[in-house]
This record gives sequence, C-alpha cells and structure tokens, in this order.
Amino acid sequence: MARSEKLVYFFGGGKAEGKASMKDLLGGKGAGLHEMTRIGVPVPPGFTITTDVCGYYYAHKHRYPKGLEKKVGDSLHRLEEIMQKKFGDPSSPVLVSVRSGARESMPGMMDTILNLGLNDQTVQGLIAKTKNPRFAYDCYRRFVQMYGDVVLGLKPRDRNERDPFEVMLERKKEKRGVRSDTELNAEELKELVSEFKAEIKAQLGKEFPEDPHEQLWGAIGAVFGSWNNPRAIDYRNLYRISHAWGTAVNVQAMVFGNMGENCATGVAFTRDPATGQKRLYGEFLVNAQGEDVVAGIRTPLAIDKLKEIMREPYGELDRVAKVLERHYKEMQDIEFTIERGKLWMLQTRTGKRTGFAAVRLAVDMVEERIISKEEALLRIEPDQLNQLLRPIFDHQDKEKAARDRRVLARGLPAGPGAATGRIVFHADDAESWNKRGERVILCRIETSPEDIRGMDAAQGILTARGGMTSHAALVARQMGKVCVAGCEALDIDYAGRQMRVDGTVLKEGDWISVDGTAGEVIQGEIRTLPSEVLQVLITKSLDPKASRVYQQFAKLMKWADGMRQLGVRTNTDQPDQALISMAFGAEGIGLCRTEHMFFEGGRIRAVREMILAEDEAGRRRALAKLLPIQKKDFKAILKIMGSLPVTIRTLDPPLHEFLPKTEEEIVELARIMDVPVEALKNKVKILHEFNPMLGHRGCRLGISYPEITEMQAQAIFEASCELRKEGLNPFPEVMIPLVGSRQELHMQREIVERVAQQTMKAYGVRIRYMIGTMIELPRACLVADEIAQEAEFFSFGTNDLTQTCLGLSRDDAGKFLPSYVVQGVLPDDPFVSIDRDGVGRLMRIAVEKGRKAKKNLEMGICGEHGGDPRSVVFCHEIGLDYVSCSPYRVPIAKLAAAQAVLRDRRLR
Ligand code: PEP
Ligand code: MG
Repeated sequence: MARSEKLVYFFGGGKAEGKASMKDLLGGKGAGLHEMTRIGVPVPPGFTITTDVCGYYYAHKHRYPKGLEKKVGDSLHRLEEIMQKKFGDPSSPVLVSVRSGARESMPGMMDTILNLGLNDQTVQGLIAKTKNPRFAYDCYRRFVQMYGDVVLGLKPRDRNERDPFEVMLERKKEKRGVRSDTELNAEELKELVSEFKAEIKAQLGKEFPEDPHEQLWGAIGAVFGSWNNPRAIDYRNLYRISHAWGTAVNVQAMVFGNMGENCATGVAFTRDPATGQKRLYGEFLVNAQGEDVVAGIRTPLAIDKLKEIMREPYGELDRVAKVLERHYKEMQDIEFTIERGKLWMLQTRTGKRTGFAAVRLAVDMVEERIISKEEALLRIEPDQLNQLLRPIFDHQDKEKAARDRRVLARGLPAGPGAATGRIVFHADDAESWNKRGERVILCRIETSPEDIRGMDAAQGILTARGGMTSHAALVARQMGKVCVAGCEALDIDYAGRQMRVDGTVLKEGDWISVDGTAGEVIQGEIRTLPSEVLQVLITKSLDPKASRVYQQFAKLMKWADGMRQLGVRTNTDQPDQALISMAFGAEGIGLCRTEHMFFEGGRIRAVREMILAEDEAGRRRALAKLLPIQKKDFKAILKIMGSLPVTIRTLDPPLHEFLPKTEEEIVELARIMDVPVEALKNKVKILHEFNPMLGHRGCRLGISYPEITEMQAQAIFEASCELRKEGLNPFPEVMIPLVGSRQELHMQREIVERVAQQTMKAYGVRIRYMIGTMIELPRACLVADEIAQEAEFFSFGTNDLTQTCLGLSRDDAGKFLPSYVVQGVLPDDPFVSIDRDGVGRLMRIAVEKGRKAKKNLEMGICGEHGGDPRSVVFCHEIGLDYVSCSPYRVPIAKLAAAQAVLRDRRLR
C-alpha cells in the first residue's frame, strides 16, 4: 500500500476521519463528504474505501488487501448505529449507495449503485417503516435495474439498441397508458422487479443476488472495475488524468427524494456555471432519485421553483450553498436530496465552468474580496480564454432567420456561443465527419459518457432531454462547446437518421444552427461575427464600456501582465496579423516567415525563376523582382510594430515547395524565363529531393546562394532605414534558420552585417538591429556555446527540434502519433506540448551553454509550442526571455506565463 495503511475512512454524526485536503486518497467526492460533515453540513453517514485499495485491486488480480473486509464490516456497524437501523434487517433495513469518486471528477464516467440492500424480505421492512409500498417498490426496481446493468452487465448490445430495462419500463407504461414513471403503482413496479430479474436470468444465466452483503461486495468490485471501462479511459486521455490514480468507493446511508411530494432531489451551483453570474443556480425533481436529474430522463425544474414549493428546505439549501462557497472560496457544484422536508447534502465539489464563467467568477471574486488576484489568475485554464474569442451569431442574419420562422425550437442554454453545422445523430459519425473536414452538430435524445469523443469533434451539441446539469450540459461546458440541452420539441429517430421539430423534418447532413447563449435551435446556416472581445479590440465595432465580457477579460490580462516574467511575441507574416498582435498586446514579432509572402499573387513566378535560374546572374535577375515586394511587406509590418522587435527569418523551406507542379505551370514559366520547356523540366527533376526536410533548406540555401540572403537583408534594412527617415524607430532582428554549426552562422552573418552597414551608410541613418539564429537542430543545442559567439539571440524552433530530436517527420507523424498517445507510448503529442525529457533537455543544454558564452544573449521560442500553456510554463522554468505564438494565442500565453510565476513561488 502506498500512502496509507488505513483502508477505510468513516464520516457521520458530525465527525469525519478524512478532510478536504485528502482528495488523492479519498477522491473528490469522498473528501467533500468528509469535509462537509466536519463543518456541520447535514450529510448522511458513510465511509470511503481509499484509492490505494483501488491500486491494490489492480495490482493483485482484482483481490482486496487483507483486513479490508473487517474494516468495511466495522464501518457498516458504525453507520447502522447512527441510523439506528440494520443493513439487511427485514423489519427495518438501512439501505446504502455505493459510488465512485476519483481525485478529479469524471462526471458519469464510472458507476454508481443506489438503494443497495433491498431484496424480497427487506422491501417488506421498508414498506412497514414508510407505509408507502409504491415508494418501496420504486426503490427496489431502480436497484435491480442499476445492479443488473452495472454489476451484472445487462446492457444494450449496439448503438441502435435501447437499454433493455428502459424498454421493459416503457412497455409497462404503454400497457398502463401512462407517460411518466411516477404514474406506475406499487403493484406494477413490483411486477417490474420480477420481470427485470427474469430477464437477467434469461439473458445472462445469473440469479440476482438476494444477500445484501453479496450485493455490497459485488457493487464495490463493479465501482473499482469501472475505473478502467473504455469511456473512463477515453475521458482520462482527453483531460490528461493519470490512469494510475484509481477511484475511491463511497458507501453511504441512503436518504430518499422519492418518498412523496415533500421530497425532492437536485443539483445546484453556487453561481451560474455558464455565465458566472452570482446566484444559486440549478435544478431539481420532486419525488425522484438523484440519477433522474443527471441522466436527463426527465427534464427537471429550475431551482427558483423550489423556493415556491418547498420554502423552508430551499432556504436551508441557499444557506448551505453560501456556507460551502465561503468555506471553499470557490464556486461549488452540489448535490442534495430533500427527504420529507429535510435537506441532506450528498456532494460538493469545485464546479466546472465555461471560459466565460471562469473569467467572470475569478474577477468577481477578487472584487468581492473572496480571493486574491494571484488566486484568480491561477483559477482559469489558459485554453479556456479561447472561448471568449470565439464567434457569435450575426444579429441581422439571426433576426432574418426569426422572421423566416426558422427558429424551430428552444431548449436550455447549456453551453454559450454560436455553432452552425450539419446534423449527425451518432457520436462516432461526429468523429468521422469531422475527420473529413465537416462541421457537425451532434443531435441526441440525451448523451452518455460513451459519446465524449464525438462531442469533442462536434461544433455544437443538441439534446432533446435533460437539464442544465445533464451529462450533455456538463461535458459541453467543460469542453467549451456550444450546447442546447433538453429541447423537448425534438423528436429524434436514430434508425431513420432524422428528427422532427414542430412539423419540420430535418435529416442527417442538413444544416442547423444552435445558439447556446439563447438556447435556440435554428434551421439552416447562420453567419457568425467575431466575439465581443474581438469586436472591441480588432474590428473596433463595440464600445469597450458596453461589454462586460471585454472589461473583465481586460482586467485579467492586466493582472497577468503585472505578474509574468516571460515576454509574449507573435508569429506573424502579414500586416493584418501584425495589427491583431498589437491589439492583443504582443510585445513584438518572434517569427516572420518570409517565404509565406512568396505565395501571393504573381510573386510565385519570380520565386520560381530564382530557383530555376541556371546561374547567379539569372538568380540575381529574379531576386531583383522580389526585392521591392519584400521591402514593401517588411516596411508595412515594421511600421505597425513601431519600436518593438520584429524577428525576420531568412528563407527556410526546401526549395521544392516552390517548384511548378503542373505541365501548364512549367510551360508558362519556360516562356517567361525564355528557356526550352524540356530544359526546365530537367531542372525540376534535378531539384527533386528524397527527404526535403533534411535537404537543401534553411541556411544551406543562403550558403549555396548568398545572393538570396543578400537580397532579403537589403529588403529588411532598406525598409528599416526608410522608416527611420520617417521618424520611426524600427527594430529588426534578422534570424538565420536551421543552423547546426558556428561556421554556417558566421558566413550568413557576414552577409547580413555587410548589407546592414552599406544600407545605413547609403541612407545616412543608424538603426537598432540584431543578428541571431534559430536553434532547431540537436547539434545546435550541443554546440550552442560556439554558435553564441556569432549570435545576439537564439530562438528555439521547436517544430524542427522535435522532428530532429525524435526522428519523427512533422508531416508524416499524424498517421501514427495519435495511437502512440492513446497507447501511452508517449504522454502527449510532442508537436503540441514540448517533450520535456528529450527536446526539453536539449533546450536546457542550449540555454546553459548559450548564456555561459554570452551573458546577455536574448532567448525565445517560436515553434508552435510557444502557444501551448504547458510548454509556456516550461519556457519560464528554463529561463527564456519570451515565447512567440500565433496572434490569437497571445492571451493564453500571457495567462500561462503569469501562472508559471505563481506556481514557481508556491513551490518555493
Ligand atoms: C520551427 O521549426 O519550430 C519553426 C518555427 O520553424 P518552421 O516551423 O517554419 O520550420
Ligand atoms: Mg523550423
């Protein structure tokens, strides 16, 4: 056993053996139950079997550690004493729930069993105690249904088949001519119990266990087993949760929300999880059990309604919610049950939230003096800021849709934002359509944990059943997906691949739009507009004062700017991107890939001429055509960036990328260059490379053809000198790519330096500039001290460094890398997040050697990793000066950089 010899922790009667800080051992749910008990919140008694036991269970072929059975028995006795009832007692049984609970919540991914302890004898005791046979049989049929599914394994065989228990339940309701489960009477529910058991026997050849202790151990095993069911594994892969953590098991005395009209069950958030607004937010069902709310089978009522129909318990709930939020200093997601007017809390945990809510909550809580600015910065996942930048619907286009009566239905606004796409009805279709580049809206009666990969692939999610806390809603908010849930007007026919909405038939593949802010479902495609933040910053079409979202975003960015040490630049090749970078507060350009400018309009012809020229004179003729074009581009970008550094890289890609591909292109080019077509074809053939990524590219081009570097340097310095003459203060940093030795950089540097001096002399001005290199080859890292002699700055090209360090082709890895990650060969895609153990080590070597050789060497990163929050943290750790990322990732990088400082401080 790893951490603790103690296998079971008890809570109840106002005392608890565990507490909030013991999440690793007791799981999130367990730790919450213990903590709530400690602080005097009403919680039914129970006990937690630790996550260590789960680890043991998997390491020892599904056996339990010695002594567990006795500990569980003892804890059950303590529970019986508090409840003054006995487990399995035919005259007055206590029933228990058996629920999973991992360190991080994994909503709905693992199993739960309620009402455990019922059999043909104990159900009589429950009837005698409650004088309510209908209630007792309702509990019993739910128990057999859950146990039959979760522990014994009677489930639908494929995606078109419905849950066998639900089919029997439907049949019973049809026979009785009723719509809702609550209309079935005791006798009918009793019949269902027998029918369920008979079906289990018929399908699985197993008897339903009548012995409560056998039931309990079966359930404990099933909950531990559910840690490794495929959907839980998928979920952990998606959210980077360690497969090694394991789940705890919570066994807790049952309280009942389904004993009658003075009973209810529900879930609530202490603030609105979609928008972050401060108000008790949630939903409930009268006369129901907990899983009914989350499963999305009945659409629940909004929590405000509870205030009307159960005044006192509502007041108590409101009070407890406030106590919990104040205690945890964080928005809580709570589960409660009201049994005959008395409130019981069954769970509290940090509530999942959208990016909008995350920002609002953090900023509001600072202003309410609940948390510090530092804490606020740590509370937001940097990637969540993406949501604040995502499009919203064009108001006019949407109004038009309303006038055309295309707003078909309304559901719950479960995940804010605008999504438009084609209808699919199955999660695996969402995945495959998305792979082939389609935008899709996943439409389901309800979603289940199996659907998460499809939900991730969809633009938006639409469900017919379920509330704001249904599976679809919870998961969508966590993923930052647009979602409308519980849209009851949808009549979905999976087999027919169509749905009927208010007389309109929508088929698979039809266009549909969902407004997750208003909860609307609209036929057809609707134009989208930039988000409020972009409308303020980029299009300048919205007054900042009119947008709360923008104001809070801006506040947060200001706090992040005050905290971070890393600079944030952008990878930008065009003036419009440079403007966006400035609007987001970038502190310069970390990479301007000059070759991107070569593809526009007729420029490619001049580039091709240059590549295919027979000799230097021919190349110079072509380069002379490119010079004014490049100069104009550089000037525009340098002008926008003012006196901020602009890192411009000399030509890098393999030449073949620019070659003419079709017969027509070759013929046309031969005419322009005035050479025979055959000769040109031959030249193209000669330029063919077997492995262009490791071929004639990077500084190798400038070394073979110095006149290319010369022309680019001339364009950069002429542009800069002209701006200087106009009174500006441009700051170019000329960057040489794919350098592996000091000599390479030395040769290129000489050219750039010479052109710089000549140009400044010719214009009669001086400008600030630097010459440096990309560090993107393992050799460059290892000889960084030598290379530093020739460089004023290093910029890590982690795309190529990853490719060359791992020997993984950037362009081909997509075929097998995803399966490598799923199989755990690599923890992450190394092109997304820096491979710390390999690439990271090389970077550390380069930083150390580089700084040793030159103390004030400037160091940054311009590979794609510069916008990945975890890689940004790594860059902070190794002491880089800045990260450079795409313009829209600037806010994310800033927040990640601020968090890196704060985490650093906490460690110290
Ligand atoms: C890199 O290799 O990380 C880089 C920024 O250069 P490119 O992606 O253009 O090769
Ligand atoms: Mg590169």
